[in-house]
Amino acid sequence: MSGKVAQAISALRETIPHGRLITPEAAEKYDSLNNSYLSGFESDLSPACIFLPESKEEVAAFVRAIRPFVGDVQFAIRAAGQQPLPGCANVQDGITIDLRNLRGLKVRDGNVEIAAGERWGSVYEHLEPYGLAVTGGKSTSCGIGGLATQGGLSFYSSREGFICDNVVNFEVVVASGEILNANAQENLDLWVALRGGGNNLGIVTRFDVRTFEQGPLYGGMVWYSKPSFPGQIAALVKELTSPEADVETHFMLSIAYAQLFGNDVVCLNQLYYTQPVEDPPALAPFTHVQPQRDEMNTMKIQTLVQAATEQTGAGQSKIRCLYMNVNVKADIETLTKGGDIWCEELEAVKNAAGLMCSYTLQAYPVSLLQKTSVRGGNVLGLDPSNDPVINVLLLTYWADKSDDERVIDFMQKALKRIEQTADARGQLVPFIYWNYAFSHQDALRSYGEENVRKLQKASKKYDPHGMFQKACTGGFKLFK
Ligand SMILES: Cc1cc2nc3c(=O)[nH]c(=O)nc-3n(C[C@H](O)[C@H](O)[C@H](O)COP(=O)(O)OP(=O)(O)OC[C@H]3O[C@@H](n4cnc5c(N)ncnc54)[C@H](O)[C@@H]3O)c2cc1C
Repeated sequence: MSGKVAQAISALRETIPHGRLITPEAAEKYDSLNNSYLSGFESDLSPACIFLPESKEEVAAFVRAIRPFVGDVQFAIRAAGQQPLPGCANVQDGITIDLRNLRGLKVRDGNVEIAAGERWGSVYEHLEPYGLAVTGGKSTSCGIGGLATQGGLSFYSSREGFICDNVVNFEVVVASGEILNANAQENLDLWVALRGGGNNLGIVTRFDVRTFEQGPLYGGMVWYSKPSFPGQIAALVKELTSPEADVETHFMLSIAYAQLFGNDVVCLNQLYYTQPVEDPPALAPFTHVQPQRDEMNTMKIQTLVQAATEQTGAGQSKIRCLYMNVNVKADIETLTKGGDIWCEELEAVKNAAGLMCSYTLQAYPVSLLQKTSVRGGNVLGLDPSNDPVINVLLLTYWADKSDDERVIDFMQKALKRIEQTADARGQLVPFIYWNYAFSHQDALRSYGEENVRKLQKASKKYDPHGMFQKACTGGFKLFK
């Protein structure tokens, strides 16, 4: 540990109550915290210290204590640690501020106030007795911070917009150590900047999110084989580009490979209709695909908690996991070719231990994009007058670090060829979705110059000495 880091930890010890700072000497506690990230790429990093604040005041005290060390000491902000982007929520030899002990949920004035250490599953459980829901992560295990500051797709996004667009107030500790509220009335520029600006502007301690009345939904999974995939893409494009596109739908269409399924790829539709309607017509082309694995079909009317629990899956951690993504227009040829490219490149890594991976399509329907201005704006730079956008997510899990290089190579090759195909057809959308981005994909700059300028202006105002640029280096930064 460098002398400056040791000094910063001593300075923290003077202001922070005993027991909140966990160093490697407390091996059992430190290891269990540091190994609890979704991806081994985050757990590979060893911070000099993990700080577990229990109140917003302790977060503010941290920011004030660390300020004199900016330039010499780095820190990372961690919520649930579910984003696999290396170094976004952990830091080698620095200080990781882990927000897990900031707890609390309160329904007030049509919103739910969510402390930054909660997970979406607890939010949904809290809201269910009130007959309410929010736009939140599709898995119970996802943290609030990553999704609510970097966009965020939910089951309800077609009807309600991005997760960040539904945050009506951010309570945030800025570089001065002040605790500010950012909403439509106070600090409006900070409110908009936090809707896509990630960890560049401060440490959010509470998110107030708009609720809406919501009963059960219809959803689940349908498994089928590869020859039917092009027809499913065509059905998706038809639905999204229809002037009558149904705002209650949410689609995830995948080609997937897992060694436990045998040598062939399989296809999976994860489908949601956000009303308690059995077999709704808008989902019929996808739920009725034939032939399908009937015994694996899970479509049913269920609560949000049940739907998000199904998405959580095996809940492994410390496996090797990475995401990469590209966005394209709703072009059948690009999306079909993209799947073929992914299958071709996959051959090189099929024998990597524990490999599970997918080529997954998720949509930003026009109805979702139109909600941004209705809800007060964001900095993502997606134009609502455009056609729908389809996010192509390459998601890979594997078991063994020795396979890192070749798995990353597979993903990068597939991504590049898909980008080239989309570009050659004039179907590439320059936006990169931060939540699914890998280190070489500068999501921030993909928001466009005007939005980057807006973010830089907010940064200079709320963080004039660049603390969150120089000391909190994970993710994507505003000044290069
Ligand atoms: C099973 C599963 C399901 C998923 N489902 C969805 C989904 O439905 N929709 C979707 O869009 N994505 C989804 N994802 C992607 C994932 O949720 C995101 O990558 C998200 O960023 C994780 O959030 P987190 O808060 O756990 O992030 P962390 O990994 O803890 O942090 C992510 C980034 O956010 C910053 N950050 C976190 N909290 C704060 C805060 N309070 N203040 C300032 N900065 C903060 C961190 O510094 C870091 O850079 C899913 C992932 C998994 C594994």
